[in-house]
Amino acid sequence: MLLAVIGDPIGHSKSPAMHNAALAALGIAGNYGALHVVRDDLGQAITQIKKLGFRGINVTIPHKIEVMAYLDIIDDSARIIGAVNTIVNDNGVLTGYNTDGKGYVRSLKEEAIADLSGKRIMILGAGGAARGIIHALSQEAPKTLIIANRSEDKALEMEKEWKSQVDIHGISMDKVSSYLPEMDVVINTTSVGMHPHITAVPIDPDGIPAGIVVSDLIYNPLNTELLLRSQDRGCTIHGGLGMFVNQGAYALEYWTGMPAPVEVMRQAALNSLHS
Ligand code: NAP
Repeated sequence: MLLAVIGDPIGHSKSPAMHNAALAALGIAGNYGALHVVRDDLGQAITQIKKLGFRGINVTIPHKIEVMAYLDIIDDSARIIGAVNTIVNDNGVLTGYNTDGKGYVRSLKEEAIADLSGKRIMILGAGGAARGIIHALSQEAPKTLIIANRSEDKALEMEKEWKSQVDIHGISMDKVSSYLPEMDVVINTTSVGMHPHITAVPIDPDGIPAGIVVSDLIYNPLNTELLLRSQDRGCTIHGGLGMFVNQGAYALEYWTGMPAPVEVMRQAALNSLHS
């Protein structure tokens, strides 16, 4: 079974280590590689992938939107989110999926909060990752979603786009402190706090209510400054590694039709992060 991730840059990707460990654990002969594909070569790369008989592809930055033009079928969730991170090749017919948002929510529910229904959730950031997460969270019957973004217009766009499905409000970052006391869950989807700027925080952690759930999509470092400071305030914290592992697990399940060996994948991703 031939699998790969395409992106630019791609050298840092932990996906090959994670998926090769999973293939070995499932007893499937195959290989998952990392292919460096620049924007101008994307169409040609997809044609070659089809010709060479790859069973599946993960798509990462910057191709998640543009790749949709080269696919035969787009799954509903990927269409609504507007981005594809997983492609399945069924004898030359390419179907695009998005497993980022549902991978995130599976991880959040398994590791931090089992039931999201009726919860008031604040999402910091309104980029690509936030889109998948809003879509997945909107299926969990939350009481309300507050989207706070540095550029307020993007948060308001999200509100407009999803308001028929969920109670959702877009705000600017400077209004966060007035909404925070009401929140049950805060999720950072911005890149603030990511290596190498590991002391940066997207909001003042002192305003986060004690004891709520605080989650961060970043997995390098495994626990961001936001999470560490929230833990000091008695919050349940949840880092981004579980999202990475579960988006990969869903992709592997599409390609193989078998349950993914999630713990093997988590360990391989951790080892790769530490190496
Ligand atoms: P993106 O589309 O570029 O969006 C970035 C977001 O961060 C935007 O909302 C942006 O606000 C905000 N932002 C960036 N710098 C900021 C700053 N200095 N102050 C305040 N806000 C700032 O990126 P993405 O694809 O959504 O990824 C976001 C994060 O999620 C990254 O850290 C990425 O590593 C992580 N991620 C993790 C996983 C996983 O598997 N765990 C998967 C996907 C992404 P503006 O709109 O104002 O620019």
